[in-house]
Amino acid sequence: MANPRYRGRFAPSPTGPLHFGSLVTAVASYVEARAQQGQWLIRIEDLDPLREPPEATGQILRSLDAHGLFPDEPVRFQSRRHDAYQDAIDQLLTTGHAYRCPCSRKELQANGGRHPRQCRDAPRQPGDRPFAVRFALHDEHCHWQDQLLGPQHQEVQAELDDPVILRKEGFYAYQLAVVVDDIDQEITDVVRGSDLLDMTAQQQQIFRALGAEPPRWLHIPVILNEQGQKLSKQTHAPALDDDRAPENLFRALDALGQEPPASLQASTPDEILAWACQHWRRQAIDLTAR
Ligand code: GLU
Repeated sequence: MANPRYRGRFAPSPTGPLHFGSLVTAVASYVEARAQQGQWLIRIEDLDPLREPPEATGQILRSLDAHGLFPDEPVRFQSRRHDAYQDAIDQLLTTGHAYRCPCSRKELQANGGRHPRQCRDAPRQPGDRPFAVRFALHDEHCHWQDQLLGPQHQEVQAELDDPVILRKEGFYAYQLAVVVDDIDQEITDVVRGSDLLDMTAQQQQIFRALGAEPPRWLHIPVILNEQGQKLSKQTHAPALDDDRAPENLFRALDALGQEPPASLQASTPDEILAWACQHWRRQAIDLTAR
């Protein structure tokens, strides 16, 4: 029976094809959801066409397919959701949770990388100047519980960190869109890489400003290459070979500390995932990044 109280998702930004690090995240979120009879969705966070090669989305979706990672609902594309993000921005501006910031890079640099207070305290009319919209954080000692890492404590410093939610170039920012869609898709559980851990406290404030309770969070250690760098497009992580899906899945489960039996290597992706859902042990995940 499906568990309506668990809705998870995998939400890649299509900056390149799926690599081993993103597969590990996808598998962890999929298996967590399935092990709790929950639903699992895929959302393509294609907000920035300048950083996203047009073929990447197709490559990612084909790879997920080849690895047997099928979602319960049609894939959502953030590039088709601009109206929802604009509505959220209008709402945040109206309720005083966001403000327009026409500061140039030079002005910000002259102010030690921070935006001058007056942008926030006494909104300037941007006039003809292009402006960004920033979310107005409040100072907070934020305490929250990570499902894997345990109690978390983060200092949110208003003013210093106020994230841009609409960029000057007109692109909606990740920080806003991820929250708007997690609310809209009724996501209860976010499983993602611990490189996003630092953003969680800020995102919780955005959830609340939009009138929603934040989901539960589970951050898994990021996979490092031999040089100790996070596997990513910037560190030239190679694309996954979809023809070796069973081997890739086996390695992903191994990286997640699940100790899959060697005999599983000769199985199909469906069989490997079924084994993983049955034997999933969240506490076996090694907390030191590897
Ligand atoms: N789109 C983000 C990324 O690829 C992940 C968003 C999230 O899981 O919160 O880094």
